[in-house]
Amino acid sequence: TLEAEVPPAVATPAAKDRQFRSGAETRPFQAEVSRMMDIIIHSLYSNKDIFLRELISNAADALDKIRFLAITDKSQLGEGDASKLEIRLSVDKDKKMISIRDRGVGMTKEELVNNLGTIARSGTSAFLEQMQKGGDLNLIGQFGVGFYSVYLVADYVEVVTKHNDDKQYIWESKADGSYAISEDAEGEPLGRGTQINIYLKDTAMEYLSEDKLKELVQRYSEFINFPILMLETRT
Ligand code: ADP
Ligand code: MG
Repeated sequence: TLEAEVPPAVATPAAKDRQFRSGAETRPFQAEVSRMMDIIIHSLYSNKDIFLRELISNAADALDKIRFLAITDKSQLGEGDASKLEIRLSVDKDKKMISIRDRGVGMTKEELVNNLGTIARSGTSAFLEQMQKGGDLNLIGQFGVGFYSVYLVADYVEVVTKHNDDKQYIWESKADGSYAISEDAEGEPLGRGTQINIYLKDTAMEYLSEDKLKELVQRYSEFINFPILMLETRT
């Protein structure tokens, strides 16, 4: 008789097998954005560390924005934990996922659509042109498209975000030309801010190491005016 096959212990699906959440609105990326993502995800560029610099810099920008809004309206900041202007990194080894969370301004649904995918940012075509000429991916931030460097290390990304003026939403994409947005009613409430969940590619498992992340945080935090905390591994 044949033995039943034992399923693998970790059941995290590969990016290509992932299904967007049910009921999510799926939208195509603007064509140039899609091309750029394709180039990044297939890039052999070796300095993949830069993705963390870009995401930390976005988190710090979002924290600057809420701090600025709070100058004229203190209630924008919220109370308790919500008022702590900080960045938190965490590692989930089972899910092969790292998260970066900020208590910044967050994005409304409209901002999520406009900022991440539907509208090409002005630097997109210039960045594509540079890449075709063999330009340095390290400069991605200067073209205003730094977020997409996350696809150097990830093949599936979730952006969970909560702005004071809107509900909590989740954006998800596996960089295959489309993304999906849905209201995140079931997820852990962020209060305010953004959490990026980065599901690592097989070739980027080194970022599950806390030592590696700490080293990078040390390197990049020099220019960041907010505390960056590393949370313990969830197992
Ligand atoms: P840039 O930072 O140069 O504007 P990015 O590609 O890094 O370009 O980010 C695109 C946009 O997405 C940002 O301008 C911002 O509006 C939005 N965004 C990205 N990350 C965050 C975040 N953590 N919190 C709020 N908004 C964000
Ligand atoms: Mg940026």
